[in-house]
Amino acid sequence: MYKSYFPAYRDIVYLDNAATTMTPVEVIGENNYYLYFNANIHRSPHELGQKASNAYEEARTVIAEFAGFKANELIFTRNTTESINLLSNALDLSTKDIVLVPWTEHHANLLPWRHAGCDIEYLDLDDEGEIDLMQLKRTLDRLRGIYHRTIISFAHIGNINGVVQPYKKILTLTKAYGALVHVDAAQSIVKFKYSGVDFVSFSGHKLYGPTGIGALCIKEKHFKQLKPYQVGGGIIAEVKKHTHSFIEGPAMFEAGTPNITGAIQLQRACEFIEKLGRKTIFEYEKSLTNKLKHAVITAGGYPITAKGANIVTFKTEYHAGDVATLLGGKNVAVRGGMLCAEPYVRSIDENGLVRASVSFYNDELDIATFEKRLIEVCQRLKKSKTK
Ligand code: PMP
Repeated sequence: MYKSYFPAYRDIVYLDNAATTMTPVEVIGENNYYLYFNANIHRSPHELGQKASNAYEEARTVIAEFAGFKANELIFTRNTTESINLLSNALDLSTKDIVLVPWTEHHANLLPWRHAGCDIEYLDLDDEGEIDLMQLKRTLDRLRGIYHRTIISFAHIGNINGVVQPYKKILTLTKAYGALVHVDAAQSIVKFKYSGVDFVSFSGHKLYGPTGIGALCIKEKHFKQLKPYQVGGGIIAEVKKHTHSFIEGPAMFEAGTPNITGAIQLQRACEFIEKLGRKTIFEYEKSLTNKLKHAVITAGGYPITAKGANIVTFKTEYHAGDVATLLGGKNVAVRGGMLCAEPYVRSIDENGLVRASVSFYNDELDIATFEKRLIEVCQRLKKSKTK
């Protein structure tokens, strides 16, 4: 029913929504910025500049509210990856600090912490794919009083298993130990708000918005412990020949001219989702994912988890890359390979995994076509294996 909103949804069964979601006409819209107020922000003392600044700041307010934060708590970035790099740098971490992170995470939530110069401990998942809360508690008990800062960083919805982590329980547990919490919300921001969380990262392109824009939300009280990530114009209070000082708040992390149109379109994406209803989207996708899981099993695949918000990642008897490529040749879009979480995927299958992921614009016909094509692909690979 919603496919007609998405101009790129043509002649394909698009089940690669965990990689990126399509963008509806309503969000693409007319590019008001270039049409009506094409000027730089926060520096141009004329009407166009004022309009551009107002539109950019209105976008900040709406997107922050969508995420459960205030406008003065949202920094615009390029994407989730940049948000986590920004955070891990701005915190100025050292071996006096420790980050606890599931070893199963997307590379974007692993490598920035490894690069940050802090200690790291890896968290395990239980059999259901959830963070093992007992292990987390034991770890927090053991680390008590040893480190200056303890940070727990995890994806609320995993990009491999699609499992929804019990983030409220994790938050309550970790807060009792005075730890800081970062949620990688790349896969989950469409469905959840995060008031109460210290740091949240997400990307526009996974929320029916444009590429090249994302956000890092930071609780106001934490700004004072952060150092700038990139320096240059737009973040300066005063520059003398040998010294300089920075302005405070999110603007301190937005050096240079930002992605103004991206912010405006991302605001539209948030408004579009609010209109559809975040809970409705979540419930619909969950029930379609159940059907997708059955389709995978019927076609001879093995889903890696029983749970999954909108993602079914599975093994077959064949190489994941071959399965995904052959499905692609039949106009069924899925991902195959290491899925940007190589340690986790390799621990399940050295040949990689196939990931199919739904959005609210998918329907039962998509699932039926996927099942049929997956059966054909597996038959073809079986034949070439036995030749
Ligand atoms: N974290 C998770 C859970 C993701 O699914 C992704 C993208 N697949 C990222 C981080 C990185 O997002 P981006 O490529 O937009 O920076």
